[in-house]
Amino acid sequence: MENGGHAMTTAVGDPAAGRAATGPAGSVDELVGGTPLLRVPLPGAARLLAKLEMANPLCSVKDRAALYMMRAAEEAGLLPPTGGTVVECSSGSTGISLAALCARRGHRCVIVMPDNASEERRLILRKLGAEVHLVPHRDGLPAAWAYAEDLRRSLPGAWMPRQDRNPANVRAHYETTGPEIWEATGGRVDVLVCGVGTGGTLTGTARYLKERTALHVVAVEPARSAVLSGGEPGPHGIPGIGAGYVSDITDLTLVDEVVAVTDEDAAATADEVTRATGLPVGVSSGAAAWAGRAVAARPRWAGATVVTVFPDSGERYLSAAR
Ligand code: PMP
Repeated sequence: MENGGHAMTTAVGDPAAGRAATGPAGSVDELVGGTPLLRVPLPGAARLLAKLEMANPLCSVKDRAALYMMRAAEEAGLLPPTGGTVVECSSGSTGISLAALCARRGHRCVIVMPDNASEERRLILRKLGAEVHLVPHRDGLPAAWAYAEDLRRSLPGAWMPRQDRNPANVRAHYETTGPEIWEATGGRVDVLVCGVGTGGTLTGTARYLKERTALHVVAVEPARSAVLSGGEPGPHGIPGIGAGYVSDITDLTLVDEVVAVTDEDAAATADEVTRATGLPVGVSSGAAAWAGRAVAARPRWAGATVVTVFPDSGERYLSAAR
C-alpha cells in the first residue's frame, strides 16, 4: 500500500467511495461514488450500459481518485487536516475535484492547467477558491507537469497528488467503481469499454472485474493521439483522454483491445447520446459510447453485457461549442 501501510479510515470494501451508508451526508466526501448505471438506448447496441460519473458531487469520475489520493496523503501525514497546500496538474476534472476537497478542509489549492481547457473549468476552479496557472497546451503534458513540480518545490510543505503516478488513483476504482459495476449488473458483465487518461479508471475497474469474471477489456483513445495503438502523440479534441504517453499506473496487461476514436465521432456520439438519453454527456463519454456501440454490434457479443464509463457532463464543454 502506497500510504505506508495505513488502512484507509473509510471506504475500504464500501461499494461507494465516500457515501454515507444512511442518513444525511456530513460533507462533500460522503457524496462521492455510488453513481447509477444507465442503459444507453443507441441503435445497434442492445445491452450497452454506462456508469454515469456526472452523478458525482463535482460532476466527474475524478471525484473518486481525488478523494482516495487526498485521504491516502492525510493517512501518510503528507497533508495536515487543514491549512495545507495542494498543487496538481490537471486538464480540469481532477483539479475541480481537488479544489472541492480543499475548500471543505481549508487547504490552498493550486491547479496547473493547459490553456485550451474549457472556460467552465477555469470558472468553477476559481469559484471553489483555487488558484489557476495556465500553461501552453502546445508544449505538451510533460512540460505542464514540470511546471507544476517547480511550483510545488517553491511552496513550503506543498503536496502534489501526481495523479498519473499515484496508486490511490487506481485503488479508488478497484474499491469503488469496479464493485459498483459488479453489484449493479449482478455480476453479469462481459465487456468493459473505458477511456484512458491517467489510466486509473481502466486499471482499477478492469482489475477488480477480471478477478471475478472472464472480461474483455477495451481501452479507448483519441485517433489523433493513438499512443496505445502504437501511434504518435498529438493534439486532439477529446479532453480527459489521450494524454500522449502511457502513465506509470496504467496496467496494459489488463487491456485486450484498443479502439481509437476520431474527434468528430466522439463529439457527434456525445450529441447522439445526449438526445437519446436526455443527459448531456461530455466528449470523452461520446468516445466511449462510439467504441461501446462498435464492440456491442459484433456477432461475438450478441446478448452480452457491455459496460462503459461516461466520465463527465457535457455542461463543462458548452463554451467550446459556441
Ligand atoms: N474523461 C474525462 C473527461 C476525464 O477528465 C478523465 C480523467 N482525466 C478521463 C476521461 C479518464 O480517466 P482516467 O484518468 O481515470 O484514465
